[in-house]
Amino acid sequence: MPSTSRRLVLFDIDGTLITDGGAAREAFAEGLAEVYGFRGDVRRYDFSGRTDPQIAAMILRDADWDDAGIEARLPALWNRYLAGLARNAPGRVRALAGVVALLDRARADERLTLALLTGNIEPGARLKLGAIALNGYFPFGAFGSDSPRREELPPVAVERAAAMTGVEFRGADVVIIGDSIYDVRCGVPHGATTIAIASGKTPAEKLRAENPHHFFDSAEDLDGILAAIKL
Ligand SMILES: [Mg+2]
Repeated sequence: MPSTSRRLVLFDIDGTLITDGGAAREAFAEGLAEVYGFRGDVRRYDFSGRTDPQIAAMILRDADWDDAGIEARLPALWNRYLAGLARNAPGRVRALAGVVALLDRARADERLTLALLTGNIEPGARLKLGAIALNGYFPFGAFGSDSPRREELPPVAVERAAAMTGVEFRGADVVIIGDSIYDVRCGVPHGATTIAIASGKTPAEKLRAENPHHFFDSAEDLDGILAAIKL
């Protein structure tokens, strides 16, 4: 029987809500080249489910930067990255199949509070979603700019939800929806309900192996996903 409790529904962005057509990766590469002199190929790296600070560290450690050196230039990297993303995102970001209908139906249900849980730094998240007018669904969220560690983001979202709505969401009433193994993993220590959707770069078998509470091949399974959110 569907629960009548209110639920906080936390959406990942890349591979879950949208694809950016490589806009972020190119902006990242430009920023790394300009700020760190990085000349390698960023296409070698898997960005899925990682926070922006983790992506920067992953790439730059390979290029022999130490953590203090990486950290010192991150503000400059984000400036360059955001400028590139502002240029690249319009016209390249698109919503994944089923997403807008899913968001419309979820927003229409007063028991559901929608928010973001993403590795994107917040201004980057807003640029990507703003390119296709999706920001309005998400008045708040937890971002890669709040912590480089994704598993620290669910409590941030819960705290902001309490401030916005007055509701203290906990345990299974927090629903995390994403396309990577890290989306599933970040929910586990918090007892959250995890919903994996194989609409990103992670193969379905690999996602299933993380044992999410619910698994879908795409957001087009509207009824299935809405039922899973409200179980
Ligand atoms: Mg993702």
